[in-house]
Amino acid sequence: MARIHFIDVTNRDGVQTSRIKLSKFQKTMVNWYLSQLGVFQSEFGFPFSDHEYHYVQGNLALKAKGAFGTMVLEGWVRALQGDVERAVAVGCTDLNLSMSTSDLMLHLKFRGKLDRTAVTREMTDAVQAAKAGGVRTVGVNAEDASRTDIEQLIEFALAAKEAGAVRLRYCDTLGFDSPRTIYDRITRLAEAVRLPIEPHCHDDLGMANANSVFAAQAAVDAGVDAYINATVNGNGERAGQADLLSCILAIKYANGLQGYELGEQLDLSWAWKLGNYVARSYGLPVPIRQVGIGANAFAHESGIHADGALKDRHNYELYDYELLGRPETEETPTGRVITTGEYGGLAGFKYVYERLGITFESNAQAASVLELVQVANGHNQKPLLPDELRFIAAHPDEVRTILTTSPWRSQRTAGNEQPAVAAGGA
Ligand SMILES: [Zn+2]
Repeated sequence: MARIHFIDVTNRDGVQTSRIKLSKFQKTMVNWYLSQLGVFQSEFGFPFSDHEYHYVQGNLALKAKGAFGTMVLEGWVRALQGDVERAVAVGCTDLNLSMSTSDLMLHLKFRGKLDRTAVTREMTDAVQAAKAGGVRTVGVNAEDASRTDIEQLIEFALAAKEAGAVRLRYCDTLGFDSPRTIYDRITRLAEAVRLPIEPHCHDDLGMANANSVFAAQAAVDAGVDAYINATVNGNGERAGQADLLSCILAIKYANGLQGYELGEQLDLSWAWKLGNYVARSYGLPVPIRQVGIGANAFAHESGIHADGALKDRHNYELYDYELLGRPETEETPTGRVITTGEYGGLAGFKYVYERLGITFESNAQAASVLELVQVANGHNQKPLLPDELRFIAAHPDEVRTILTTSPWRSQRTAGNEQPAVAAGGA
């Protein structure tokens, strides 16, 4: 039976969103939390962008040493040979190539420079460049798929498959679809092309989660795997997109979804930590009604509800909060506190790490990790959390690479193809 997988796009769609940003180190921690949760893949960034260079290098090195388990790190590029070549040059082994497919965008965005035949040719050239460059899996994204003529979309998808793509991303870029239309269109597409489908749904009409679940059902009912795209807490372009945890819980608990199988064993006890980490890093509070992790997701006050929940939680709760790693309470110390960070020294640093159960062989070793802590704190501009401190101590070489930032586009355009500052330990 075909299965449903999850591809998180927080580190691509999430962070490209206006007024929502993560530091390179925070993006790395998101990859790590996602790997603990057990999703199939993280769309981890933009491998053709100069400022992502060290982040991409460091994260690929972490992947190579097993720090992310089996989770795939896949880069997003435009379906352009130049983008693909740069992604291959930085070592990406898995890519999604994006191309607009609707007539509307061909007219209004490309202004007639590309027609239907031309976008298909650009896409197949890019897929072939990726295959020639040794890329292991190539997915093709049809931007604005929901406003694309279905016959054109099928033709585009068949060409992608023929060129060597292993999945087609159906982008409901503007959140235009509704559950019934996306079910029908994905059914048609999957039956005609026989290629796994990635539903990528935005929330402009508030239907991203429902659309994603209906799309996944359609793909599986048609006999192909579905790879739901989602972000942590649903943040993404404009009104956001499908929320990772909502979609997972829907597949597991919604009426009518019984019998649909997940492709990966997910450990939902990481859900609370992941959602709160991303919200804190964005500087945005978790909405009070957020599915699973909102403050009110398991709160009851009104007479009938409180009475019912006290008699048996399942009167008013579909699933248990313990499952999501929600603690009963969170404690904040109120006496003397020693922290370590951007302006800290060795004594405080060693004290904090000792309390985490981590000691160093020498002061020199401790000082080199302290340097990383200082820079990471400088990048995040938030107190470092125990998980972040542990991660830095466990992977100092890769973290050093990730923390290396140096504007170098002007040097590259002057003929220098490598960044001026060498990546350490990549
Ligand atoms: Zn998107």
